Amino acid sequence: MNKPAPKDWIMAIAPYVPGKSSTDDGRKVIKLSANENPLGTPDAARAARIAAAQTLHLYPDPGAVELRHAIAEVHDLDPARIIYGTGSDEVLHLAAGAYAGPGDEIIYVRYGFSVYDIAARRVGATPVVVADHDYGTDVDAILAAVTDRTRVVFLANPNNPTGTYTSRAEIARLHVGLRPDILLVIDQAYAEYLYPAEDDGALDLARTASNVLITRTFSKIYGLAAERVGWGYGPAEVIDAMHRIRAPFCLTTAGQLAAIAAVRDQAWVDQSRDHNRQWLDWFTDEVNALGNHGLRVVPSKANFALILFEGRLTAETAYQGLIDAGYIVRWLPGQGLPHGLRITIGSEQDCRAIIAALRHLVGDAR
Ligand SMILES: *Cc1c(COP(=O)(O)O)cnc(C)c1O
Repeated sequence: MNKPAPKDWIMAIAPYVPGKSSTDDGRKVIKLSANENPLGTPDAARAARIAAAQTLHLYPDPGAVELRHAIAEVHDLDPARIIYGTGSDEVLHLAAGAYAGPGDEIIYVRYGFSVYDIAARRVGATPVVVADHDYGTDVDAILAAVTDRTRVVFLANPNNPTGTYTSRAEIARLHVGLRPDILLVIDQAYAEYLYPAEDDGALDLARTASNVLITRTFSKIYGLAAERVGWGYGPAEVIDAMHRIRAPFCLTTAGQLAAIAAVRDQAWVDQSRDHNRQWLDWFTDEVNALGNHGLRVVPSKANFALILFEGRLTAETAYQGLIDAGYIVRWLPGQGLPHGLRITIGSEQDCRAIIAALRHLVGDAR
């Protein structure tokens, strides 16, 4: 060996592919590829972010004390049991890092969030991918995949990139069916898009169970994707283990202050949720009306919809056609969905423009 050799399990990682923000030839397009909030950022969060420039020479609060208290107040939690990270992506990595290593198995569903695969392989654990049930989570398939090497189960609810939702009863059944030494991580990146009656019960489980961790993010409904603030909630022992491997100053001052202002603005959350559901439902109906052309939407409760192209118009052709119409969306051949486009629910104008473009494309499709 005449040069440093990375670990085999690191080189087995397929690099994360982010949603594109521009076309390959650099044309200006509207980005509906990363599930960002079309309403933007709460004003108070932007103001807090700007004010943070006064203390650029100082390290941020390593304990994120004020942020943890603000989150705890809104969700009625114990601030001591809140973990945080550079986006909830980091929190997912912390869970894998604290509970799995070489020889251990981490389960997630096919068409699950692509970071789970990276988080598992990064620590040398073996990813175990279980079959979906019509693009949604199959709890029985997860339970059937458990072995004595299983350490962690990752499940996003609603799921990305499918938008599918697992009910409270199914989450409870999954939890009851898992051995107590398996950490169940429920990734709630889109939980704020659910109405109270749709609560999946995961946060309640994280309050009471000894093996459940939930993760949340400020990147989606709170409109702070650029600041990279995520958090999680779970049993004190789990949080303690994760803190040991967390980067010491993983949240910037600007990120903390913006997130504090954002979480205190629950009217923003309500407004964003209402906008999303109104246009998600409209968009779903409009796409499903093109069913005779082979288009259908996988039922979604997130801020995006996965359209399947099962007729003459292919997802790839539609992807290019939408670029020509001024929109970049997410085509997912790398995630086993070459027949799917994931499209963020944007403004009313965006939604109408996407539907008009799709109608045009199926009309022209030969
Ligand atoms: C967007 C997303 C995240 C993480 O986002 P961060 O910006 O890292 O907080 C986590 N899980 C799912 C399922 C997501 O879609």
